[in-house]
This record gives sequence, structure tokens and C-alpha cells, in this order.
Amino acid sequence: MMTRPIEARISLDALSKNLSRVRDFAPGSAVLSVIKANAYGHGLLPVASALSGSEGFALLELGEALKLRQAGYRQKIVLLEGFFSADELPEISAYEIDIVIHCKEQLDLLCSENLPKPVGVFLKFNSGMNRLGFDRNGFYAALERLRGSVNVSGIVPMTHFPAADLDAGIASEMREMEAVLHGLSFPSSLANSASLIRYPETRTGWVRPGIMLYGASPFPETSAAELGLTPVMTLASRIIAVQDLKPGAGVGYGPLFRADRPMRVGVAACGYADGYPRHAPNGTPVLVGGKRSRTIGRVSMDMLYVDLSGIDDAGIGTEVVLWGEGLPAEEVAHACGTISYELFCARAPRVPVSYY
Ligand SMILES: *Cc1c(COP(=O)(O)O)cnc(C)c1O
Repeated sequence: MMTRPIEARISLDALSKNLSRVRDFAPGSAVLSVIKANAYGHGLLPVASALSGSEGFALLELGEALKLRQAGYRQKIVLLEGFFSADELPEISAYEIDIVIHCKEQLDLLCSENLPKPVGVFLKFNSGMNRLGFDRNGFYAALERLRGSVNVSGIVPMTHFPAADLDAGIASEMREMEAVLHGLSFPSSLANSASLIRYPETRTGWVRPGIMLYGASPFPETSAAELGLTPVMTLASRIIAVQDLKPGAGVGYGPLFRADRPMRVGVAACGYADGYPRHAPNGTPVLVGGKRSRTIGRVSMDMLYVDLSGIDDAGIGTEVVLWGEGLPAEEVAHACGTISYELFCARAPRVPVSYY
């Protein structure tokens, strides 16, 4: 039986190729593959399996961490926001999950519990992002207490840079971090994808790549292909209706687009309820039957419009690729004023995923 034709095709082979690119850039570091947000919309367990060569995984929810343990993963698993309430600590300890400690409240709770086994801690320094982490004095005070606590098995100082993907770079944050690490001999964790690609000095003990594993470039000016990355997710659907427009005819709600000549328009089964951005403007790139075209009109909940000018063989059933193989997600994201991360994470549960 034919079902609604949208799907997200996910290449497991591309994931493991991208992991080897991480190793090319940071051969001396252990890799914490970041699989938060359902592996950036790609599916937790299949992605973990394709990246099972990683020394560890990083994500947010304890429940997801436990799914990995139940599936048999023995690697390090780090909760990037740590724990949210003391009730989580017994399981964190029993299942040997590592936690980020970013504030004094977490520190107090961790040090006051009576846990079955000590827990590995990633101690977060706020080097300038002002999101999570301790300032320099807070960091040293936390370090002292963690060193003296029976609940702690190991400490990895970490930070996260606010502009590693941009011209501003990491210089001032890196100076702060180096000053804090001076004289300490812990393995540290500094780099996301952008840092580990661009800044060799951030390839320390543990690197934390996310977006590059999914085959997208973290940089606005450098393509994934130039970085040797392979796209992982292809979001594809098909044309389910064709309209012939007369000059002056509008398309869709609004209408955001009017034909200035006779035009053929395809209606593709993909809308904002599938995770395609509603704010995509006229001209956002798409592939129709493998040929580059553009969206026109406003994206609706379940459908969007593609220009069939010059693609005479396209009709009902022709494939429309929204991003992925042949059309980098970054390019679509850029046209929509967002980043590939948001496109991937927005894939709606109603879009079936197939792995190959
Ligand atoms: C999400 C995240 C990463 C991964 O970042 P990418 O830009 O996707 O490589 C690394 N570290 C932390 C703390 C994160 O929250």
C-alpha cells in the first residue's frame, strides 16, 4: 500500500565515515559523540550503533542514558546539563553515568548524598558564554570539594566556546580556560565540531563533536564537502499534485508568490508539521527529480510548492529532496535564516525514518 511519501533516509555508513573525519582532525583525543535531542533528530539507538566506535556519548536526559546502558553500551556516557534533582543520583551512580557539574546547587547535592558508587564529573568552567559553568573562583572551590568527596571518581574540566564557528573565534575564552587549567593535570574537554576542526589547541583529552557527525558544516563559509563530511539525513517526499498557473495567479496562503508568466507548480507532501521551516522564503533550494529548483509560496502545515519551470518530465510521484544528498542542509538552512542543527532537530515524529 502506498503511504504518504515523506521520509527521512539516514545513512549509517555516512555517520561512521564522519566519525573517522573526527579522528583525522583529533587523532590524540577520545571522542564523546554528542547524541542529544534524539541524535539531532536522527534517532538515538541507530545512531549510537553507527558511532559505537566512540569512546563515549554525550546527551541530556538520564532516561536516554539508561536506554544506552540497557542496549549494552559500556562507554562513558555524559549528561551535558548534569542532573536536575537529587532523585536522579542513585541511578546515575548505579549505572556509571558521568555528569556535568555546572553550579553550586548541583555540587552541594552531589557531595551530600550517600551514593553506591562514585560518579565521574565534567566540571564546567564559564569561559565567556555565560550559559552554564563556574567563574574562576567558583571553579577552584568546586574542584577542592570534588577532590575531597567520596562520591567522585574522576574530574574532567570542560568549557564550551560561544563563537568557535565565527570570525570572533575562541582566543579570549581559551586564555581564560588556560589560565584556569594552569598547573592542573586533568584531561580536559574543550571542543565541539567547530573548535576541533579549526583550533588544534582545543583537541585535548575528550572532544565533543555533534553537527559534523551528522555531515553538516559548522561554519557559514565552509561547506561540508570541503571538510570531507558526508550528509547523513536526506529528507525526501514526492509531488502529489500539479497546478498550471496563469500570469497573475497566486500560490498558497497569503499568497506569498504570484506567477508573472504561465507556470507549472508541483505540490509536495511536506509542510511545517513535518519540520520544514514555515519561514522558508520564495526561492529556497529543493531538488525535483534530481534537478535543482526552488520553493514558491508559503509553506503550509502539510504541503509546500515547488517551481516546475524547465522540469517538464516532473509530475505526480516525482521525488522532491528538501535537503540531504545533493542538497546540503546548511544551504537550505541559510536560505531560511537558520542553521542545519535546527532543521535536523525539527524532523517531526510523523516523518518515518529509514536507515541504510
Ligand atoms: C551540543 C554540544 C556540543 C556539540 O556541538 P556541535 O556544534 O554540534 O559540534 C558540544 N558540547 C556541548 C556542551 C554541547 O552542548
